[in-house]
Amino acid sequence: MQDLIRKLLVDLGEDPSREGLLDTPKRVEKAYKFLTSGYHADIDRVLNNALFTVDYSEMVIVKDIDFYSLCEHHLLPFFGKCHVAYIPSTKVIGLSKIPRLVDVFARRLQVQERLTNQIADTIRDKIAPLGVAVVMEATHLCMSMRGVEKQNSFAVTSAMHGAFRTSSRTRMEFLELIKLRSAVPGLREAGGYACLADE
Ligand SMILES: [Zn+2]
Repeated sequence: MQDLIRKLLVDLGEDPSREGLLDTPKRVEKAYKFLTSGYHADIDRVLNNALFTVDYSEMVIVKDIDFYSLCEHHLLPFFGKCHVAYIPSTKVIGLSKIPRLVDVFARRLQVQERLTNQIADTIRDKIAPLGVAVVMEATHLCMSMRGVEKQNSFAVTSAMHGAFRTSSRTRMEFLELIKLRSAVPGLREAGGYACLADE
């Protein structure tokens, strides 16, 4: 990877042998490996010993989880907050594991919509809850830094399964708790669009 970065620096019109850039290929490689470490993470290992059988069926919410990801169209960051809720049927996930789960999928090349779905689908598949909802709000630097004016650089995406999809009352309770009434399925317009990869 370091050779590629050196080549990139030359193509950008830089001199990779000047002092400030000497160690840049090494640093960039290290940074990219960390930012894409989710490819090598094992979900079952992340959740290991943190799935508990309980007699509890109230909504569990973890909100304002910070996340940082890379737009797969431009390799530029998008970042913001993730809110997760589920209604257990027989199992719960240890609360500290939810942000870890978000990181596993965020530390890959992503589009915000797929990232949102992967988090929701994984919770659904691992503990079969009565419902699961994930809402993500993010700023896309590929939009804001490049001055793309025709779309908003702030995007809201959501994925809802089970009770959050079938019951508007459950959905509204969740959205009220995260103070985001506009984020209902199919209503991405409320927060603009994520990167559309058109240029
Ligand atoms: Zn992009």
